[in-house]
Amino acid sequence: MITSTSQKQEFYRALVEKDPAYDGIFFAGIKTTGIFCHATCTARKPKFENCDFFLSAEEALLAGFRPCKICRPLSFPHTIPEEVQMLVREVERNPEKRWQEADFSKLGLHSATARRKFKTIYGMTFVQYARARRMGMAFKEIMEGSRVIDQQLSLGYESSSGFNDAFTKIMGNPAKKADIRVVNAHFISTPIGRMLSLSDENYLYLLEFVDRRGLEREIEKLRQKHNFRIIHGQNSINQELERQLGRYFQKEPIDFSIPLYMDGSAFQKQVWAILASIPAGTTLSYRDIARELGNKDKVRAVGNANGANQIAILIPCHRVIKTDGELGGYGGGIQRKKYLLELERQAVKA
Ligand SMILES: [Zn+2]
Repeated sequence: MITSTSQKQEFYRALVEKDPAYDGIFFAGIKTTGIFCHATCTARKPKFENCDFFLSAEEALLAGFRPCKICRPLSFPHTIPEEVQMLVREVERNPEKRWQEADFSKLGLHSATARRKFKTIYGMTFVQYARARRMGMAFKEIMEGSRVIDQQLSLGYESSSGFNDAFTKIMGNPAKKADIRVVNAHFISTPIGRMLSLSDENYLYLLEFVDRRGLEREIEKLRQKHNFRIIHGQNSINQELERQLGRYFQKEPIDFSIPLYMDGSAFQKQVWAILASIPAGTTLSYRDIARELGNKDKVRAVGNANGANQIAILIPCHRVIKTDGELGGYGGGIQRKKYLLELERQAVKA
């Protein structure tokens, strides 16, 4: 989401003037209606304070906005094949659905063709779209449902298996266990995008950029394993986390002191322990870590363990690069990895 006021004002002007030069450059989320639009949308223009601006459609979806039916902001140019429109409609009708091959043929669509057209038009895969929409709805629901749930909690629903959070409503019940554990979702803005933290008063369980590939799977695993119910809210852990992250992004040298819940195999935990020992401003290669573990053939396994880390920044998986010095992958995207490494180099020098 764009936070710079001057940038917002520029985009707002383009929105009001329906400036076609801005189609596809930004997406305007309208808070009063919950939809997002292209600059040139012919619908009545909202007030400035009711607009959020995004640089990608995926971001707008993740913020809980749905595509406008008038300007169809996901299409650029404005002609969309019928099968693609059908897929978007189906997602709106049934957002929690996980798509299988058979679902395409049920709609009379040839899966590969429909997927290819979707990708061409929207710049993201259909699965990515459906997931972003689903997650966005859950996030929004978390934010808006907090008051209702606070009430439920104060009435003593905490231990009741009938207690349902946004994820349960949108993605189904994780498990039929009696004991649920309530954790707080808290969103933290950073210069490189919004992050989601999951924590209770004891531990931080997850910290990820909201558009991270695979985030939904990570949350599902936590929900299955611990019977989490995720509600919006603050606690001592996420407040302290937000403070420390703020200082980190201000380039203050900082040792994070947040209790982390690390949920992984023995091997993964070994890898993560090594990650945690890499000083800021420096990097190790996957091979270095494999060697440190006494098995230089485990490079790929180290890479996988690195990717399985779900506490971004605090367990600094971004400090692991390829043996040849290339950056290698990053769950939050390569641009963020670059940014974080540069930030840390400057912080150490300062
Ligand atoms: Zn519109």
